[in-house]
Amino acid sequence: MSETKRTPISDLGEFGLIDRVTKDIKIENTSTEKGVGDDAAVLAYGSKKTVVSTDLLLEGIHFDLVYTPLKHLGYKAAVVNFSDIYAMNAEPKQLLVAIGVSGRFSVEDIDELYSGIRMAYGVDLVGGDTSASMTGLTISATAIGEGEEGKLAYRNGAKPKELICLTGNLGAAYMGLQLLEREKKVFAGNDKVQPMLDGYSYVLGRQLKPEARKDTIKRLKENGIVPTSMIDISDGLSSEVLHICKQSKVGARIYLNRIPIASETFKLAEEMNMDAATAALNGGEDYELLFTLPLSLHDKLKDLGGIDIIGHVEEESKGVYLIAPDGEEIPLRAQGWRL
Ligand code: ADP
Ligand code: MG
Repeated sequence: MSETKRTPISDLGEFGLIDRVTKDIKIENTSTEKGVGDDAAVLAYGSKKTVVSTDLLLEGIHFDLVYTPLKHLGYKAAVVNFSDIYAMNAEPKQLLVAIGVSGRFSVEDIDELYSGIRMAYGVDLVGGDTSASMTGLTISATAIGEGEEGKLAYRNGAKPKELICLTGNLGAAYMGLQLLEREKKVFAGNDKVQPMLDGYSYVLGRQLKPEARKDTIKRLKENGIVPTSMIDISDGLSSEVLHICKQSKVGARIYLNRIPIASETFKLAEEMNMDAATAALNGGEDYELLFTLPLSLHDKLKDLGGIDIIGHVEEESKGVYLIAPDGEEIPLRAQGWRL
């Protein structure tokens, strides 16, 4: 009997696995304008574009109910999906939510989860699915958004010499998670001690109740700016810069000392003997927007507010490097999960 080949998924990692299952897809419908490979798919029915993105959240992998309130979890499940719609320069309008629920949960628990989902951004909940589950709570959310012809921002439009722009700051959600995990361990060993979360409300908020960059998309629109490429930061800056570079067939230089990091993120990283820059580069769950703009828009960027220029696009042959404050060039590496 011949042996069936069984390749461990860890040989491919997350991105390798996605490439493998999607590589031979042939688009058969003219309404499918963009399939796999960006933050969301783009469907064309008439002059408006429909933008669709889905995310799966599994208990024990993506969230821990020991320290995650269900209301926050519902809100986060919705918002992380909207982030992918904004990353296309589109606006989320509808949401579908499918849940798998084990016997551990009560009706009131699910009420809490939905109160969070329904708080999010004035988007209509238009459907979903509900099932029993053997393994805790599973939430699958699909956001549907509206985009305009010629205004969508894909990952593949960056050109050499352009500015690489970033909203907000990075690494805070990751450090918030490290704090929650640390306190969970302390708490598990001794129920007489209280978790030490004081003074870290900002990083905790970034982890437990993230926001998507609706405000940036609004201001880009008001100022008549369409990014040449855009992606949201769910897996860490390094990974997202590499996605844009790969799809745009360009290189990049990112200046380490220009990456915005909040003071609380620095403080906690120091306290925990960790590196804040590593949290910013590889942490993930920031849900900030990374985008490119022509150099000519440099002055106009000020009108947008709260945006930093962290680097520039290079020719593909120049590679993708992080520039340390002393001028050292460090190659950027992707993360993504591995089993
Ligand atoms: P994001 O971080 O923006 O959510 P991902 O890295 O999860 O993006 O996915 C990259 C691309 O691959 C997206 O276009 C997504 O729709 C697609 N994709 C991810 N997983 C699958 C899958 N199992 N089958 C088909 N397409 C997938
Ligand atoms: Mg994304």
